[in-house]
Amino acid sequence: MLDYDLHCHSNVSDGTLTPAEVVDRAFSRGVKVLALTDHDDMDGLDEARMRALQHDMRFINGVEISVTWRKHTLHIVGLNIDPEYGPLKDGLQAVRSGRTARAMKMSDDLARAGIGGAYQGAVKFAHNPNMIGRTHFARYLVDSGHCKDVKSVFNRYLVVGKPGYVPHEWAKLSDAICWIRGSGGIAVLAHPGRYMVGKNSMGKKTMRELLVEFSMLGGRALEVVTGSHTAEQYIEFARYADEFNLLSSCGSDFHGPGESYRDMGRLPDLPLICRPVLEILQ
Ligand code: AMP
Ligand code: MN
Ligand code: MN
Ligand code: MN
Repeated sequence: MLDYDLHCHSNVSDGTLTPAEVVDRAFSRGVKVLALTDHDDMDGLDEARMRALQHDMRFINGVEISVTWRKHTLHIVGLNIDPEYGPLKDGLQAVRSGRTARAMKMSDDLARAGIGGAYQGAVKFAHNPNMIGRTHFARYLVDSGHCKDVKSVFNRYLVVGKPGYVPHEWAKLSDAICWIRGSGGIAVLAHPGRYMVGKNSMGKKTMRELLVEFSMLGGRALEVVTGSHTAEQYIEFARYADEFNLLSSCGSDFHGPGESYRDMGRLPDLPLICRPVLEILQ
């Protein structure tokens, strides 16, 4: 099996490595085809593509768009997008624009829970000041001794019903898919298992409704193998992909050494019933 990774982050969004460092790490760990998929921003793609060329790796332009669908926050990965496509650029600019005000509200809420200085603290971890998000706050909460690691932050803070959570209106699902498709890209529903756990999560009926709507809008693939899915979830979402006639994607969702569910490098194979989205990206 070819080692490939269609979902990862650099410090252009909430990863800790530069785009070039992400590519170097992927290369040194055997990845042959890589998509960089920063949240709501495509500024890392040029640097990453140039470094991938030096390593003779195949590079795919990607992005991960934050979406509000009903009461849920979803992430839609765009693969093979054209970063020069105007509506996509403008759309992402609009999605990013609310982040700073949201971050200030998150900081106020944390202050009410007795944690001061969170905005200033989080900004220090945000390499791209327009892209401040929950991961930067999580790093501050670890750095200031409130939590032992980034993962455990999301059990006690920054999620629905806990200090530091601020509801936010992201892009519309229809817009995100439209921007991706309009730019020549493939829309992938990222880490679907994450929408089915925790407070405010969706049940199976809602997941099916989402998959119907996603397909009707022109979404093409489901992320089946991802860092945050269990082996059982690979099978569960391979079945959904089969039922809804969607292709399957595979990516680490790497954010930084020692911080992510999974490092870059060999990922488990897609279940055999899957039709890999990689095949139509070749
Ligand atoms: P934001 O776009 O600012 O809402 O931040 C979302 C980011 O927070 C995700 O892309 C993840 O990097 C991180 N995140 C959210 N939930 C978790 C979790 N349960 N464990 C680890 N990281 C999480
Ligand atoms: Mn992230
Ligand atoms: Mn995501
Ligand atoms: Mn991601």
